[in-house]
Amino acid sequence: MLDLVPIARDLLIENMQDGVIVLDKLHRVVDINPAAQRLIGLQQKALGTSIEQIFPTWHDIWLHRIQTGSRSALALQGEQTRYVELQTTELRDRDQRIIGFLLIVQDVTHRYQAETQLRQANQCLQQQLIEIESLQAQLRDQAIRDGLTGLHNRRYLEEQIHHELAQAAQTGQSVAVLILDIDFFKQINDTYGHQAGDRVLQAFGKLLRQHTRASDLVCRYGGEEFVVVMPGLDLELATQRAEAIRKAFQTLQVVSSDKRISSTISIGLGIFPQHGNTFDKLLHVVDLALYAAKTQGRNAVISVAMLPDLRLSNELIRSNLK
Ligand code: GH3
Ligand code: MG
Ligand code: MG
Repeated sequence: MLDLVPIARDLLIENMQDGVIVLDKLHRVVDINPAAQRLIGLQQKALGTSIEQIFPTWHDIWLHRIQTGSRSALALQGEQTRYVELQTTELRDRDQRIIGFLLIVQDVTHRYQAETQLRQANQCLQQQLIEIESLQAQLRDQAIRDGLTGLHNRRYLEEQIHHELAQAAQTGQSVAVLILDIDFFKQINDTYGHQAGDRVLQAFGKLLRQHTRASDLVCRYGGEEFVVVMPGLDLELATQRAEAIRKAFQTLQVVSSDKRISSTISIGLGIFPQHGNTFDKLLHVVDLALYAAKTQGRNAVISVAMLPDLRLSNELIRSNLK
């Protein structure tokens, strides 16, 4: 038995996959098994040399072991880079004095490569996820914007307006709603062409952006009709703002194919909750005000408050103001 055990141990160490290096207490190589020789590319003549000759970063490996008690990972450069993990165990004599160290060198190249591939695949997925999210945001934005003018579309207005009015109702704020319609727009198309008409719509969109605040909802409601919602504005201020827009558009010249095109707009204007306590009701009477502006000769701002004086269908107006 006494002979058998060391023989078995020798055989095990000679044949095991992991590298085994035995160091004396001065960190000199005392023994080295074939697996370690293969892994590190060492020969028997390494015996007696300092481990630092074999692992130039030995100092850091040692520190790491003292500080964390864990294994060190190491890349071994050669024909092909191999990745190993080093585990150091103290060897003690019967009196518990340290007489050397056992160094196990485990080849983890396959695991390391698999982990690297997994990390790269993960990074790739993360990147794709970011791209998908950005595309989704773009799509969401496209879905709520009008392609020609870049303003919000009717769908967005309808999504937002109820929240806007509910908030105003809660805080007791008024909200001004304007419908703006380009006068005789069909004539612009007929005279200068559809593309020129598009230029005019774009120029009007830009003008609206310049004359509104970030908190206002500005949308192309359809065709050459726009709706602007201005939270916090009363009738007087909203009228001033609408007049400013009307005048600015009147003086605007849109150049298309060397032609200078100018036009005017008519604006209907109403205040929540004064002129309608739901968006639908308010929009309906503001549309009547717009209609009044058209019939009054266009290029005008008419508020719902002016409607009773305009001999429009009083009954209709009264029923809407209820
Ligand atoms: P009014 O003063 O009464 O508003 O007259 P109008 O000619 O402006 O109104 P009408 O409703 O008769 O004509 C609107 C025109 O707007 C008809 C339509 O071809 C044109 N239109 C709608 N959308 C677009 C667009 O995206 N681009 C261009 N160029 N024209 C458009
Ligand atoms: Mg029009
Ligand atoms: Mg119209």
